Amino acid sequence: MNVPMIAAPSALERLRQGNARFASSLHGSEGFVHHAGRGAAAAPQEPFAIILGCSDSRVPAEIVFDQGLGDLFVIRVAGNIVAPSQVGSVEFAAARFGTRLVVVLGHSQCGAVLATLDELRMPTENQSRNLRAIVDRIRPAVEGLFATELRHDAETLTREAVRANTRASAHQLRNGSAVLEQLIRDDGLVVVGAEYSLETGVVEFFEGVPAAE
Ligand SMILES: [Zn+2]
Repeated sequence: MNVPMIAAPSALERLRQGNARFASSLHGSEGFVHHAGRGAAAAPQEPFAIILGCSDSRVPAEIVFDQGLGDLFVIRVAGNIVAPSQVGSVEFAAARFGTRLVVVLGHSQCGAVLATLDELRMPTENQSRNLRAIVDRIRPAVEGLFATELRHDAETLTREAVRANTRASAHQLRNGSAVLEQLIRDDGLVVVGAEYSLETGVVEFFEGVPAAE
């Protein structure tokens, strides 16, 4: 077993600081984000965090956390869903590199979540089977919300559905893999849920956050 390079709470602090740099640069006069620590691309990788994020073109993990080459092991898929290949990717990085922080990064106005809500409102007949595979993974997390009064409040429903989907993905990573369960139990692996705001550029870590060291 690898020795953890950077414990989860320290890794989380690095992400918080990077996102603060990014968010302030959005509103500041510098214009460009500072890409610290760009090393040679061929050097062995030692990512300090694993990010499972959405494919949305506005949420590139390296940029919103202001990190350089080799810092983050990033998995992106529409709706930050958890299917076997995502679990396998997280297992690989956690076991191979000793990375001890996993962040499921949802975001406001997620198109995959919106598509799932649309599907609950009005099922489409001819949806592609591949697209359906994504919607079907988001649906269990959001259909309970859709059954409440929230269905009449589109804005709140969307916001809550994005959160619920991120929570569900984090839950699946914590509970759907013998490898990850063992690393969580014995080796300090932490899975947190976070949400990026398209409006402000700020990432809020809202679930599973470990106490500071
Ligand atoms: Zn999205």
